[in-house]
Amino acid sequence: MRAMQIVEFAKPLKLNNYATPAPKGSEVLIKILSAGVCHSDLHIWEGFFDLGMGQKLDVSTRGMKLPFTLGHEIAGEVAAIGSDVKDVRVGQRFVVFPWIGCGTCAFCNDGDELLCPTPRTLGTRRDGGYADHVIVPHPRYLVDHGNTPIDLACTYACSGLTAYSAIRRTQKIKNMKKLLIIGAGGVGLAGLEVARAIHDGEIWVADIDEAKLKIAREHGAHRTFNPKDPEIAAKIAADGGADSAIDFVGARPPTSSPSRPCGAAARW
Ligand SMILES: [Zn+2]
Ligand SMILES: [Zn+2]
Repeated sequence: MRAMQIVEFAKPLKLNNYATPAPKGSEVLIKILSAGVCHSDLHIWEGFFDLGMGQKLDVSTRGMKLPFTLGHEIAGEVAAIGSDVKDVRVGQRFVVFPWIGCGTCAFCNDGDELLCPTPRTLGTRRDGGYADHVIVPHPRYLVDHGNTPIDLACTYACSGLTAYSAIRRTQKIKNMKKLLIIGAGGVGLAGLEVARAIHDGEIWVADIDEAKLKIAREHGAHRTFNPKDPEIAAKIAADGGADSAIDFVGARPPTSSPSRPCGAAARW
């Protein structure tokens, strides 16, 4: 199998060739057809997460060994199955749920693998999707994506889940009518689509890029705001304000580099 790997942090990825692994027991070998690039991948490639205020999280302290294959937004088809696998068959297509726990701790036993202190996340802890094959430890991490195009479906493993989790949380607020989405980039627009599906009130979108606001309006935003407008706070307040706001930007303008908010950063 081929894998584009980090061999040295912040240096170009290198194409390495390995024997394609054979799945054992409950494992499933996935032939990768699509893999998303998440902003967290850039941080991991650099070797650290910038936590702000001059603090950095060094990824090499979390057990990552080089060479390493990035990619936690993975979709593909089953190429081979281990001897214990009964539920899937070769050729079926799935999105891979990458947030895999150790399988033995109290969190994992409770079904909260996301909270596992020693996770086996594909693409951040274990080799991931920038390759033509990946081993998934169990078919329960394979999600049917229906008719959703596979290039889009793969992004739901992180970008989509991040947006969905945030929007779902706002729905617990009593009398939540006006939802403000801050940032109309990839994750923000995914949030807009999710909000249209599960939020029955108004959806407002704010972004400093008028072109993105236009896209947001075309995709169902009821109102849009540009934070460059000095009157923005007054305009939002004049309508009684938003009942809930989600920051999908996670960066402070204008000098710092833009950052795609990512579940991986929080879960890493
Ligand atoms: Zn665990
Ligand atoms: Zn991510």
